[in-house]
Amino acid sequence: MSETALERQAETDRKAIVNAYRGLVRASYPHTHKAERRDIRRAFEYALEAHEGARRKSGEPYILHPIAVAKIVAKEIGLGATSIICALMHDVVEDTFVELSDITREFGKEVATIIDGLTKISGVFDHKSSAQAENFRKMLLTLSDDLRVILIKLADRLHNMRTLEFMKRESQLKIASETIYLYAPLANRLGLQSIKSELEDLSLRYMNPGMFQEIDHKLQKFQKESRYYIQKFTKNVRDQLKAAGLKFHILQRYKSIYSIYSKMMRQDIHFEEVYDLFAIRIILDTSVENEKLECLRVFSILTEHYKYNPERYRDWLTLPKANGYEALHVTVMGPRGRWIECQIRSERMDRVAERGVAAHWKYKESGQLHEGNFVKWLGRIRDLLENPSLNAIEVVKEFKTNLVTDEIFAFTPKGDLVRLPQNSTVLDFAYEIHTNIGHQCIGAKVNNKVVPLKYTLQNGDQVEIINSKKQKPKEEWLQYARTSKAKNRIKEHIRKQRREVIQNGRKIFDWKIRNYEFDTNTITRELLAFFNLPNESEFFFLLGSHKLDNAKLGEFIDLKKEGHKIPVQGGRLQRKRLASRAEFESWLQRHKGVDSDALMIGQDMEVSDYQFAACCQPIKGDDIIGIFNPNQGVEIHRVNCKTAVRLMSNFGRNILKAKWTELHSITFLAGIKIHGTDRQGMMGDLIKVMSSKMKLNIRSITIDSPDEMFEGVFKVFVKSTDELQELKRRLKAVPGVLGVSRLQEIEENQS
Ligand code: MN
Repeated sequence: MSETALERQAETDRKAIVNAYRGLVRASYPHTHKAERRDIRRAFEYALEAHEGARRKSGEPYILHPIAVAKIVAKEIGLGATSIICALMHDVVEDTFVELSDITREFGKEVATIIDGLTKISGVFDHKSSAQAENFRKMLLTLSDDLRVILIKLADRLHNMRTLEFMKRESQLKIASETIYLYAPLANRLGLQSIKSELEDLSLRYMNPGMFQEIDHKLQKFQKESRYYIQKFTKNVRDQLKAAGLKFHILQRYKSIYSIYSKMMRQDIHFEEVYDLFAIRIILDTSVENEKLECLRVFSILTEHYKYNPERYRDWLTLPKANGYEALHVTVMGPRGRWIECQIRSERMDRVAERGVAAHWKYKESGQLHEGNFVKWLGRIRDLLENPSLNAIEVVKEFKTNLVTDEIFAFTPKGDLVRLPQNSTVLDFAYEIHTNIGHQCIGAKVNNKVVPLKYTLQNGDQVEIINSKKQKPKEEWLQYARTSKAKNRIKEHIRKQRREVIQNGRKIFDWKIRNYEFDTNTITRELLAFFNLPNESEFFFLLGSHKLDNAKLGEFIDLKKEGHKIPVQGGRLQRKRLASRAEFESWLQRHKGVDSDALMIGQDMEVSDYQFAACCQPIKGDDIIGIFNPNQGVEIHRVNCKTAVRLMSNFGRNILKAKWTELHSITFLAGIKIHGTDRQGMMGDLIKVMSSKMKLNIRSITIDSPDEMFEGVFKVFVKSTDELQELKRRLKAVPGVLGVSRLQEIEENQS
């Protein structure tokens, strides 16, 4: 650059910095007094000097990042001067010549301790693959000392997510998956609603851009189309509440893109089927003594004018959520039969809902927390961290499944309290009590009503498990279990059963060929090619469970008896573990495409040393990625697989782009969910489509037919997503079938 260009650049930078800093000062005004604002200015100047000359990936001066983080801390979390000062200097010790002792001298012990915590979190980055998990564990350690560290860290993460577009694709995926896996749930657990929501939306934008755009577009269209309707409904409610003499204001809320997305995934529905895209929030201006009573009054006024749905009534006044959330949610039917959710809460409850832990917390006096719920929660985190038998990855997993999710409380018939993650079912409750009670569960009485084992429990339910000695855990239960405890117990049991079936299959096979001298080295490969199956345990499993075509097996044995050679093309996936990073790097070089840096899947299958992940079972044609996991080698996952998201957040450096190449005789296991109205011969018709018409091997069938309805999960082997599409198309054409969809996850991964 020429001298004048440099000067111009310096002038632009200076203006941007001054503007950003003014914005911060405005945001911190309500929470600070004059002397504190002098300290904030001092911290700003200190950081400005330390980061002098440094730039972010976007090209802008580095200092704009800490200013933005400090502004989030002040404006969106509502913290005071100490936190703002620490946010301004959060990267100073890590990235510049400044040392912690300098900070102590200039700003005192309290600020230095928080910055030390922030530095420790991101400071260490060794070459172990679990570095991310290790970092996260460190963050939890600092969390139990001073919660401000984690709140500033969340602000830092939020700003990094807002500026993620400047990063490489692999880094985007890594950072976005960490965010969705750990930071967003953490924000939720701390009660920071809007930050949680924004983190989720931003993650989705980078992890699944197509889906994000689609939902965003449809939501905007919906907002345009429904504006008049919503205004009218809101006006009516306002008039009704005013007539009762209440003081309040009403906000209109649209569901976030990520919430819509996860509802679509969870319930396997289209955007158009999400009924609660819109809600109104009624916020009452009232005293703490009267707030509950007034919320209930609003409820009674609403239900006087509108029909309401008792199944969608949520009372978080009596039993607040674990993150402190209090409100009354009621869904009423507006004009033209449209359901509208109304969230009723007081100003105080609203503050708690938006600011969460920060609303309770006397952050100005000390880093200590006095709010009972959070204190207990921090205690449980401390227990987890002090458990010597868990490694970093296990700590993170445990934290994720049991400490960071919303919780509900259910009761035994005797009134003992059982704590469960939100969306837990009767089955989870049963396993929580005892493994055998889980294994033999056939249903329960919830509040004296008989319900099936997949019934989702609500806060405050009283649950009496119904057992039967004849009951055994089934594969489909994995879809109903929510807690890791229940899932692990069910999986252990199923694995044991499957092993027995495979052994039985082997025995049958050995017996069938006992009189011939076949070459045992080649026969399995020939078998797999002949039956079009991916591996031998699958073959023996089908044989052992009497699902293999016996006539075809006879045909095979006849061919072999007559000395025929059966053509083998690839077919067998042999897994070789890549133990070290170096081995992995050299392996990767060999498997990359000639003109792309993606891992080519399907090349050289005979000696392939990657495996398809058991959880999401990719099929040729799926959008996939590879993840190198030192314990498991390279695993190929579908991009939207939940386990992959978890792995990416633990092994961020090991994400590999992957592409399909031509495959030969490999088939893939796909799970298909079918629902419809039940009728005579339905099963037979479905099986006919799969086996006689399309000639697919079926691995398993599970059927549930409550009332007149029919719900089944079929696991079949297909060659590609094209073949799967064809299968779905044909199944949909069967009379009585209402919906056919592919399962997102077949079984959860063990790792
Ligand atoms: Mn930072």
